[in-house]
Amino acid sequence: MDKSSKPKRPSIPEPVKRELWIKSGGRCEFRGCNKYLYMDGVTKQPRNLSNIAHIVSWTSNGPRGNKDSEKLATDISNLMLTCAEHNHLIDDDKYVDEYPIELLQRYKREHEERIFRVTGMGQNYGARIVKMWSQIQNQIPQMSDKDIGEAIHPYYPLEEPLNIDLTQLEDVMAATKQIKKIVDLHMLSDKKQERYCIFIMAKIPYACYLGYILGNKVKSNTFQYFRDSQNWKWKDTEAGHFCTIQPDNENMMNSEVNLLVEVSGKIDLKLVPSNICYHIQADVPGFLFIQSLKQVIEFQIKFRELLSTIREKHGEDSKINLFLAIPNPIAFEIGRTIMKNIDPTIILYDKVADKVNYEQIMVLHERIRE
Ligand SMILES: [Zn+2]
Repeated sequence: MDKSSKPKRPSIPEPVKRELWIKSGGRCEFRGCNKYLYMDGVTKQPRNLSNIAHIVSWTSNGPRGNKDSEKLATDISNLMLTCAEHNHLIDDDKYVDEYPIELLQRYKREHEERIFRVTGMGQNYGARIVKMWSQIQNQIPQMSDKDIGEAIHPYYPLEEPLNIDLTQLEDVMAATKQIKKIVDLHMLSDKKQERYCIFIMAKIPYACYLGYILGNKVKSNTFQYFRDSQNWKWKDTEAGHFCTIQPDNENMMNSEVNLLVEVSGKIDLKLVPSNICYHIQADVPGFLFIQSLKQVIEFQIKFRELLSTIREKHGEDSKINLFLAIPNPIAFEIGRTIMKNIDPTIILYDKVADKVNYEQIMVLHERIRE
């Protein structure tokens, strides 16, 4: 076929274009791209960067073309708003096998459903993401912004995430100082009463401390990274419960007690100081025990009750040594649950470096006497 006989691509009517712009939210509909198409990347000035790609080519011998080509040439269901790069992928014969009709239709549908859902959210669904991470066993954990963004639905992220990077700080003192500095500066001074979505991949004492200094001063939701599904989305599955174990009543005069929190594993009693022990534990401790937000709430209630019991039995001047085998969101909740004017002093223990026994690493909460 020579060029002169090639049919001219039918122009797409303005109302169809308008509908496509609205449905796509002005963003590239190719899965994973989402590029905003109405702004120059460099000058940030308004500029139309869009292309309109045909899922079924407008000619029967074009990419994915068929007997319906002519009919579909200006049909909204067959058009995708794309960036130049992805327009090229869709409109090139070379990639037809890789991107068949059904796949492109799915990209379009998923994109337009998401735009509809996200733009339909009320204003009070905005949340600020807080990411905190430290070295864990000499590794720097990876936290994908995409996974995090997907986990906070139905909230949507406001501005950029607030990052608390502790990877360069080696000791607890330096880390807690850094956490406090960022929290004071960016969270507690914030008068907007925003909601915070908290994502932590850090040493457990740091997560406790973040929860402790935030307390109930801000609205917060915690998240957990699931190694099995490799995302941060809470599951709805029915999961395990917690129980508490209290010592016999005869030892109640002790003013120093151990509190063992055993969720991801058990703590060897031979490695902790010889005080009487209270336990709060998962009915089946393990790394995959925490699955749902319901469990976090159940934990919070039982932990709160246990702290109150200890205070009643041993007095407010007693001292609680805290030993933790828990994931990050539970550590955050422990910190958040402590009542600053009421609870006895709480000392956090951890295993330090290559030492076998647990050692005191920080005073998490100090009861201020009036
Ligand atoms: Zn694109």
